[in-house]
Amino acid sequence: MRLNDKTIIITGASSGIGAAAALACAAEGANLVLGARRDDRLAALSDRIAGAGGAAAHLAGDVRDPDYAAALVTLAEDRFGGLDGAFNNAGTTGDAAPLSQTTRAAWDEVIATNLTAAYHAAHAQAPALTRRGGGAMVFTGSFVGYTIGLPGMGAYAASKAGIVGLVQVLAVELGAQGIRANALLPGGTRTEMAGDDPAFHDWAAGLHALKRMAAPEEIAAVALFLLSDDSRFVTGSAMLADGGNSICKT
Ligand code: NAD
Repeated sequence: MRLNDKTIIITGASSGIGAAAALACAAEGANLVLGARRDDRLAALSDRIAGAGGAAAHLAGDVRDPDYAAALVTLAEDRFGGLDGAFNNAGTTGDAAPLSQTTRAAWDEVIATNLTAAYHAAHAQAPALTRRGGGAMVFTGSFVGYTIGLPGMGAYAASKAGIVGLVQVLAVELGAQGIRANALLPGGTRTEMAGDDPAFHDWAAGLHALKRMAAPEEIAAVALFLLSDDSRFVTGSAMLADGGNSICKT
């Protein structure tokens, strides 16, 4: 039980990597606070966790809203007595268009969802983790914007690169209080974000040294590591879990 009685917020929990992380953390004894926009999906996941003997609360909302970030922390403290960690994972790719053809509104939406929301999350979570005497924040970045430029993903790459800088600063600002901050950088993962076009999946698989995409559970396992004490000396890192995508030239 690597997260026994630890209370963890997970955003983007309605599908994909976030939902897989919720199940993985629940199996390790965590109390969960699940966030995303689709209330019905969050309710179903909460029920599934409770049915397996776990504990989960959920609150639907938009991570671009600072009040939502604060409400998730309040729910963690009211329902479970405190906050021990957070997997700030909700994200969007936005329009896949060359930068010269994107609109300012499209740029703003991706930056708000992927990067400014990370600021809102850290701003709300750091005091709660301090009250608890320490904890772990994990933010989902991407190989895109870290080691790889993909055409049509300018705003996405910029937002995910920003996550890496943010965790470095959070790590040094909060380390003395026992709070760790890390970025988790998945490779191509079979989720709603990756769609269901087999031709795209084949192309994406070929980018990786392992010649396949990840299952969400394989990325969730790394989130679990970064949230747990197994990674107690890991902070400020950008941890690639990308199937060798970043080093593959074949
Ligand atoms: P997904 O589409 O299954 O999940 C995205 C989640 O984010 C969903 O729960 C969605 O509802 C939530 N979300 C999006 N915008 C939101 C908003 N404004 N407010 C609240 N919730 C919002 O895709 P996924 O692959 O599981 O994505 C999870 C994270 O992984 C994202 O940050 C994504 O950028 C990152 N990522 C994915 C891949 C991939 O290939 N799938 C690769 C690298 C990084």
